[in-house]
Amino acid sequence: MRLSRYFLPVLKETPAEAQIASHRLMLRAGMIKQSSAGIYSWLPLGWKVLRRIERIVHEEQQRAGHHPMLMPTLQPADLWRESGRYDAYGPEMLRIRDRQDRDMLYGPTNEEMITDIFRSHVSSYRDLPLTLYHIQWKFRDEMRPRFGVMRGREFLMKDGYNFDLDEAAARHAYNRHLVTYLRTYERLGLQAIPMRADSGPIGGEDTHEFLVLAETGESEVFYDSEITDLRFGDRAIDYDDVAQCQGILEEFTSRYARTDETHDEAVFAQVPEDRRRSARGIEVGQIFYFGTKYSEPMGATVQGPDGKPVPVHMGSHGIGVSRLVGAIIEASHDENGIIWPEGVTPFHAGIVNLKQGDAATDSACEGIYRQLVDAGLEPLYDDRSERAGAKFATMDLIGLPWRITVGPRGLQSGKVELTSRRTGESEEVSPEAAVERVK
Ligand code: ATP
Ligand code: MG
Ligand code: MG
Ligand code: MG
Repeated sequence: MRLSRYFLPVLKETPAEAQIASHRLMLRAGMIKQSSAGIYSWLPLGWKVLRRIERIVHEEQQRAGHHPMLMPTLQPADLWRESGRYDAYGPEMLRIRDRQDRDMLYGPTNEEMITDIFRSHVSSYRDLPLTLYHIQWKFRDEMRPRFGVMRGREFLMKDGYNFDLDEAAARHAYNRHLVTYLRTYERLGLQAIPMRADSGPIGGEDTHEFLVLAETGESEVFYDSEITDLRFGDRAIDYDDVAQCQGILEEFTSRYARTDETHDEAVFAQVPEDRRRSARGIEVGQIFYFGTKYSEPMGATVQGPDGKPVPVHMGSHGIGVSRLVGAIIEASHDENGIIWPEGVTPFHAGIVNLKQGDAATDSACEGIYRQLVDAGLEPLYDDRSERAGAKFATMDLIGLPWRITVGPRGLQSGKVELTSRRTGESEEVSPEAAVERVK
């Protein structure tokens, strides 16, 4: 992409309404524009990051055998009357009436709708286990939308639902989701710690939230510091292997780690004092096992091996896709701007032309641009006639992992400058070597 033709409306001034770094930086970098409280347009740069996160989420879900699909944003109220949640959900639900006077709602989550799909099409235990998921916009009329996309009213969520014959199978599905989530967050460049949590309006017995530690997080958390040393890393996973998934659950959840809702001072006191931590965290996902809470009232049964109908055991599992954009920035920025992890960066490298219009410099930039494109990468070439300082400031703000700076002086000795956004270190290298490093 050539910056002269791109739509990147960066702001010079820091927007007064933004209280935290990620919100400020997303506005300044031209990633989002608020349309009304807690509702945003995703401008081209923001949209690219959102899509890269979505893609990683899809890959990790499908690796575990979970099936992607898409349910609508608008749902009929009648489904929610069946589960009893239409009245119970409260003012966070946006209720809508269509011209036929039918009660509708903008979905805050999809347990009812997926259960309805399941009961319409699945009738035998032979079709289990089954996990379906989608990535779709949700609406919750939050009392205090704030911090940009972190607490929006309209937000993008991955929500997945498992259907299993019995509790043991559903617990395996729970553990399997925990594994997929650990992998997903690490690919996004984040450490997200599973913590024992409270189930809230989804209901159910077992639940973990995944939290990214950050001072600006809205959750209060308590944990054993040893947990921050755990890494999922590059492990071979067999998602059908019950013992392996259970082992990973135990590894990642046996140390004390709880949100304030389930925090227990007496249990916490058993953690050695020098390892006890209290901090703040951003909830980026949650997994639930809730058994037959929806399948029973909604009649989602299958015929068991003995021919008798049994209600299926279910769980639901959410990732805050749009919130993650903010969470990643909270975890990875400096005073000059965003520092994208490689996995989600909107462009792989920026090319800065120090003397636009100088034939040798222009042609060196074009050459690097083409080589990067040929290597399957997406460079952003700043080909505007701006001062070098302004170009550097834009690149620092939007946080691409690499900057390749090309100017007439360096080119005289066949060199360009390659700068890492994360470390700030620069090297003088040949254009070919720069391309190799970025690949
Ligand atoms: P919170 O405690 O922050 O209100 P929640 O527990 O109500 O979140 P869940 O029902 O668990 O949310 O939804 C799954 C995920 O969706 C959350 O872990 C979070 O990452 C994301 N999410 C929830 N509410 C919002 C929101 N208002 N804006 C952006 N993301 C959200
Ligand atoms: Mg909530
Ligand atoms: Mg919560
Ligand atoms: Mg939650």
